[in-house]
Amino acid sequence: MDMEKKQFKAESQRLLDLMVNSIYTHKEIFLRELISNASDAEDKLAYLGMTDANVDINRSDLKITITVDKDARLLTVSDNGVGMTREELETNLGTIAHSGSGMFKQEVGQEKEAESEIDVIGQFGVGFYSAFMVSDKVTVTSRCYGSDEAWQWESDGLDGYTIVPCSKETPGTDVVMHIKPNADEEDYDQFLEDYSLQNLVKKYSDYIRYPIIMLVDDYREKEKPADAGEDYKPEWETVQEWKTINSMVPLWQRPRAEVKEEEYNSFYKDKFSDWQDPLAVIHSSTEGAVTFKAMLFVPSQAPYDFYTREYQKGLQLYSSGVLIMDKCADLLPDCYRFVRGVVDSPDFSLNISREILQHDRQLKVIAKSLEKKIHSELLKMQKDDREKYEKFWKAFGTQLKYGVVSEYGANKDKLQDLLLFWSSKENANTTLAAYKDRMPEDQPCYYYACGETVEKVARLPQVERILEKGYEILYCTEDVDDFVMKALDEIDGKKVKSVADDDALPQTDEEKKEAEEKAEAGKSVLEAVKEVLGDRVKEVRASSILRSSACCLTAAGPVSLEMEKYMSKVEGGEHAKAERVLELNPDSAPFAALKRALDSGDQETVSKYSKMLYAQALLMADLPLDNPAEFAEMVSSLMV
Ligand code: ADP
Repeated sequence: MDMEKKQFKAESQRLLDLMVNSIYTHKEIFLRELISNASDAEDKLAYLGMTDANVDINRSDLKITITVDKDARLLTVSDNGVGMTREELETNLGTIAHSGSGMFKQEVGQEKEAESEIDVIGQFGVGFYSAFMVSDKVTVTSRCYGSDEAWQWESDGLDGYTIVPCSKETPGTDVVMHIKPNADEEDYDQFLEDYSLQNLVKKYSDYIRYPIIMLVDDYREKEKPADAGEDYKPEWETVQEWKTINSMVPLWQRPRAEVKEEEYNSFYKDKFSDWQDPLAVIHSSTEGAVTFKAMLFVPSQAPYDFYTREYQKGLQLYSSGVLIMDKCADLLPDCYRFVRGVVDSPDFSLNISREILQHDRQLKVIAKSLEKKIHSELLKMQKDDREKYEKFWKAFGTQLKYGVVSEYGANKDKLQDLLLFWSSKENANTTLAAYKDRMPEDQPCYYYACGETVEKVARLPQVERILEKGYEILYCTEDVDDFVMKALDEIDGKKVKSVADDDALPQTDEEKKEAEEKAEAGKSVLEAVKEVLGDRVKEVRASSILRSSACCLTAAGPVSLEMEKYMSKVEGGEHAKAERVLELNPDSAPFAALKRALDSGDQETVSKYSKMLYAQALLMADLPLDNPAEFAEMVSSLMV
């Protein structure tokens, strides 16, 4: 008999150290790992049953059993699958090279930072060794199907393992964990509680195709005795009962036509802890380069932390019913980060870590396909149920706009048709396509104007001349809008222009000449105003974008006034300042008044009027006045 203690292979030892001392918070995943191993063992035996005439089993007998001995602090995961021979115990559990955690071999070999190793534990299956995260001793008893020998492997996870022969009545494997005592910050007792174990099974292994059974307490009415009299009162008792914990058939594996709307809704609410039904469900089955089923949901409201750093995007990733990652971020493009759901692909083995590169390629294929599905689902909603779409837009429109802006506009073409903006013509939200349909033939470009509210934008001096032409303007009231418009830049060959742009309306040569003459004639006024205002403005110019108003504020250079406002709110953005341009209308009465004051040498009035016009321009642009008291005084002085 071989009782000598064997040492783990060097790299296995390192992995074990990592596991045992792991500060990883999701220690609970060990149960998922053991259940998955058990399920694999059942699979293997079921396969033999179909292919090997010597193997006579009934698939319906295959099951996974979880038992607890609280007093002895023992938690056992048993299966009646293929089992392991002595050699298999040795190679599979004695050395990591044969386990699904091969990646650790590389990682550990490369002396990576402990943190990144731990991160890997969180993301992928780490197999059998994870048992040592919660146990100080693990005993594996196994009997291979078709053999009458049984072997017991045992280790404290610290320095090697022993293998001894033992007896076991039926084929299969028992993994007995001696659960660690509670530590300061670690509650290991939970792994001995029926209730938490059931929750873990539900959470990670609900869709394992074999029943996972546990002996649980059932509180029920005692049977009424045959001779019970009139005044018999029902009695209650606690009985222990074997119960199947997992539901075995995932909703997403069922054909779409067979799933009722309520089932989708309650699944969504249950799984993603929302109290509202989703706005849309995407349920698809894809076969091809990668085979996968997806069930995605568009929530009807943004979670409270959606627009913060805390919110984590991602889809649950399953491999044949086993959860392998809770929030797989790579499956969702950022612009659709609000989507929740699950993806299940048999092409991912639990040991995806082993083939990390290939796995990355598969994720990309799935992500691409999902991106298209989400896009077309949203577009469909926009066309078929506008009311619903408006609701969606209210919740997540800003996110789509960020999507247009991010990555230097790389995704703008894909997102453009999902956007909504307020239309000056419709007095409602419009798509860009509908805007285009209404566009008069002579309209040179798409127009937009930015401001705090639709009402304020509609009264901006700059919009007047565009509306006069009968052109429609998109009224933009969100911080990000100006960036969105700049990113869109051009739609179907037509430029997107701010109403404040000089060339928003093309000028004839004659008009150009006239404007130049006016600017020349008013030059002395412009220079005088600039001198009064000094560094507060970059330039004072004769405006060609005003109709009835006397002045407005625009920006020269790449940073617009809206961008400045937006940037002032984000960290590190305070330095992005718009170069302010005060535009004066040379045809207006105030301009003429300024000229008179200047010609008569009344410097005091020139100074006052200059400051007043600048203050008005600031007010209309929703920007704070440098000196509100002075402005009030100047206005009052006019009344005296
Ligand atoms: P992985 O399952 O990712 O390959 P593990 O470290 O979890 O890695 O397990 C290593 C190997 O040990 C498995 O591939 C399997 O061959 C064997 N094994 C583990 N648990 C069982 C079990 N309950 N029954 C039969 N074989 C098992």
